[in-house]
Amino acid sequence: MQAIARKKVPLSESQILRAYTEKTPTSARLYARAERVFPSGVTHIARYLEPHPLFVSRAAGSRKWDVDGNEYTDYFGGHGALILGHNHPAVVEAVTAQLARGTHYGASHELEIEWAELIQQMVPCAERVRFTSSGTEATMMALRLARAFTGKPMLVRFAGHFHGWHDHVAASSPTSQPGEPQQAAPGILQEIADRTLVCPPNDIDFVRRLCESRQDIAALILEPTGATFGHAPLVPGFLAAMREITARHGIVLIFDEVVTGFRCSTGGAQLHYHVTPDLATVAKIVAGGYPGAAVVGRAEILGALEHHHSGAGLLLPAIPHQGTFNGNPISAAAGVATLRLLRSTDIIERANRAAAAIRDQINGLLRRQGVNWCAYGEFSAFHIFCNSDPEPVSPEAIHAGRVHWSKLKGATAPELLEKIRLGFLTSGVDAVGWPGGIVSGVHNAQDIDRTVSAFEKLLAVLAEEGDLG
Ligand code: PMP
Repeated sequence: MQAIARKKVPLSESQILRAYTEKTPTSARLYARAERVFPSGVTHIARYLEPHPLFVSRAAGSRKWDVDGNEYTDYFGGHGALILGHNHPAVVEAVTAQLARGTHYGASHELEIEWAELIQQMVPCAERVRFTSSGTEATMMALRLARAFTGKPMLVRFAGHFHGWHDHVAASSPTSQPGEPQQAAPGILQEIADRTLVCPPNDIDFVRRLCESRQDIAALILEPTGATFGHAPLVPGFLAAMREITARHGIVLIFDEVVTGFRCSTGGAQLHYHVTPDLATVAKIVAGGYPGAAVVGRAEILGALEHHHSGAGLLLPAIPHQGTFNGNPISAAAGVATLRLLRSTDIIERANRAAAAIRDQINGLLRRQGVNWCAYGEFSAFHIFCNSDPEPVSPEAIHAGRVHWSKLKGATAPELLEKIRLGFLTSGVDAVGWPGGIVSGVHNAQDIDRTVSAFEKLLAVLAEEGDLG
């Protein structure tokens, strides 16, 4: 299929764009309205889509339906929160029961203890738990705790790893040199960006040298399966090396388990890889599809959040922490129902198996058609590498770190990514834009068949429109 070189058809003239437009007239109408209230008509950057985003009116299990009544197999999965699928009966029941008892007490309550106890039992590093409302807040608090604990200012993070949108982690720019501070994005103070050093992922020696050469590093934060749930995977042994280096230099090791928590295993990536960080951030699954997150970790580090008594009386915590919806009863109810199910069933394993089947079948298709792309990923993810180099590529090469992270993440032309996303949608699949998907424990054989035939149809059009070289 790749051998026939054709002139590339631009997105604006693509049959894919035409088909999507024909299928989604009500989304187009709602978008015209949304554009008058929201910047770019959306409430999250990842929901932006040309010619218009998809507007969804309901969801159940592995599926969702748009405002024109079209059905989709969903691989957004609530941005990774819905490992049980949409509206799992156990979660609906728990939340409904709690709704009748009140949504916010402005007081402590028993369910928040039960929720935190489950986390404590499941996540190896979780000696103590502090709830926040979002993953962004959790990473912000984790970094603040690390600075308070060590009394040091600098942070180390990895290029491509995402930790939310607060100032300390959102300043990254592609012009940052390895080990150098980030270039501040508009609206972020350069003084803040200057305190974060960005390292190349998978370069253990680089991190070792950096940590040996300076005494002012408070924390090292990373996504433990690599950027964006393994879109740019970390090489085997990397986590253990980070543990060893940070322990040696008194640096707080933070695993951002916002996605991997309760997904890689019941205790997250740290349990799966047997590497225990000092702190971890969890969100998404922890609150069962409702807003909620937590920073968890060593008791002495979270001690900065504790009140103390001294001769002078009660002393306020070193770090005061507020947050209207911290530990709220609705998220607690959904979180408890979800964590209990994950602990007592094989849902994580089912999600892993479904994702593996999708990866295998997509790779079979690519091989049969002679397309030099590949599907890869671990756990309940599938990622598609739209390789533009002539060298053959394989999941093994990607997982061994032989494909540079910058080729895996951010190198594919936006027009091609858009065609892929729209092409999947026209065949009833809502894949994420990088492209790939996050799979739940309720995706079934029919979903997998639909996904693979959608991809087959998409490849045929991409070949016809000159997108496969
Ligand atoms: N860390 C990681 C690894 C994430 O994937 C995300 C969200 N996608 C965040 C932090 C931020 O979480 P939230 O969207 O809940 O603020």
